This record gives sequence, C-alpha cells and structure tokens, in this order.
Amino acid sequence: MTQAFLDARRRGVFYQNTSFCFNYQRPCPYFALCRSNGNPNVIENFYQRAEPNEELRVLPAGVPTPAF
Ligand code: SF4
Repeated sequence: MTQAFLDARRRGVFYQNTSFCFNYQRPCPYFALCRSNGNPNVIENFYQRAEPNEELRVLPAGVPTPAF
C-alpha cells in the first residue's frame, strides 16, 4: 500500500476506488468532485480549500469563539 501511494504521488495520479462511492448508505463526500473530471465549476461551487486542522487555529483577540 505504501509503495502504491508513493508511486501515485510520484506520478501525480491517484486511482479511484469506485467500489466505495456509495458505501454507508450515502454518496462519498467527494463524489461530485470525482465525477466532475476536473470541472472548475464543480470545484468552486461545492468545495472550499481549508488548511489542515483549521479548527485548531488560534483566533485573534476579540473574536468570539464558537459555542458548541
Ligand atoms: S467518490 Fe469517493 S469513494 Fe468514489 S472514487 Fe471518489 S473518493 Fe473514492
């Protein structure tokens, strides 16, 4: 598995495991993205880029913290 990941990363091509697109009685959250064939409209309208672990980011002083 590690070798497959390293090979995919080196080539910039990641395989799609389409047998899991509808597991857990719902579509995968990336289904629209996977099926868009790189369409920028799908990416811009359905997804947003976020830094990893952005929920752990320290907020500036004076900004109220969200209540959960
Ligand atoms: S839709 Fe989800 S499960 Fe299906 S290939 Fe894409 S990432 Fe994998």
